[in-house]
Amino acid sequence: MQGLILEGTTEDSVRLSDDIELVGTLQPRQVRVEVRAAGVCGSDLSCVHGKYYMPTPLVPGHEAAGVVVEAGSAVTYCEVGDHVVLSTFGNCGHCAVCESGNPGNCGALGGLTQPYAEGDQALYNFANIGAFVQETIVSENQAIPIPKDMPLTAAALIGCGVMTGAGAVFNRAKVGFGDTCAVIGAGGVGLNVIQAAAISGASQIIAIDRAPAKEALAMEFGATDFLLADGDDFDAVKEVQALSGGGVNHAFEVVGSTALLADAISMAKAGGNVCAVGVPDLTAEVTYPFQALHQNKNLMGIRAGGGKPRKDFRVLADMYMKGKLKLDEMISHTAGLDGLQAAFDSLKTGADARTVLLPHG
Ligand SMILES: [Zn+2]
Ligand SMILES: [Zn+2]
Repeated sequence: MQGLILEGTTEDSVRLSDDIELVGTLQPRQVRVEVRAAGVCGSDLSCVHGKYYMPTPLVPGHEAAGVVVEAGSAVTYCEVGDHVVLSTFGNCGHCAVCESGNPGNCGALGGLTQPYAEGDQALYNFANIGAFVQETIVSENQAIPIPKDMPLTAAALIGCGVMTGAGAVFNRAKVGFGDTCAVIGAGGVGLNVIQAAAISGASQIIAIDRAPAKEALAMEFGATDFLLADGDDFDAVKEVQALSGGGVNHAFEVVGSTALLADAISMAKAGGNVCAVGVPDLTAEVTYPFQALHQNKNLMGIRAGGGKPRKDFRVLADMYMKGKLKLDEMISHTAGLDGLQAAFDSLKTGADARTVLLPHG
């Protein structure tokens, strides 16, 4: 089958293969999923650039939806024919942490598997999914059923961008009625921070992005103000403080920049939340003025929206089906697997929100 293989740490080291095969027999609690749609997320670019220190060769892609085509003998969470959103949480499902309702904190996360091969060469999967391929194998708790009449292109986005952005608001920051927010970065994740903050009753949502095209999108998703990060004179902290009357209740850094995280600390008002949503190189260190955080502010590390995928994915899909969550508006382009480089180019300029790859065309 067709899929993309990463063999190094540059965009040039991704190639399209026609000869990937799934290997081994399905474990009792695993499912085989035909990948119908896979979003290209900033984390895919970071993965390809080696910022997550993943072993290669590897199949990238982690924001996906598809159809269950085979289920292991003990699978009860879904069945063949189900439409599913895939979760990156390869949590074990039965340790004390999982049982306490915190699957994102399970020690099994980040475990590496090699569900496919090209010839004799075994291939790793990125983020427990490896979605830029026509079929993949995941644990049943990573395949969350959604309504069959939901478009799989929209559903794919729930797996990462929506859960990461909306989850940061609903699960972690817990934005409330009348709260003020600043959102640094209005891409696929940032737009979901914005729409979730709007749904939560925030009275002011200041979006900041370096791409002028993001203004219309940010406003469509619920931003009340847009700041174009343009030119050497632009001072995001000063602008946010001026617009909000001294700082915001919740400052979200969604780009994955340590310098911008330091800015977010200064944008939050005393007692406010600073939400580290974006993921820089995992070895990066953050420097900030001590005084900026000292005013009873909360600095939050947020992994994948603090989500509980088996519950949250269903809620998010239901919100979309009821017209309460925008997803289609986020999709700028769809393309075949050969469209990855164009999607990366678009991510780098910040011009578009999301490209969704369709592994079966
Ligand atoms: Zn992602
Ligand atoms: Zn566990």
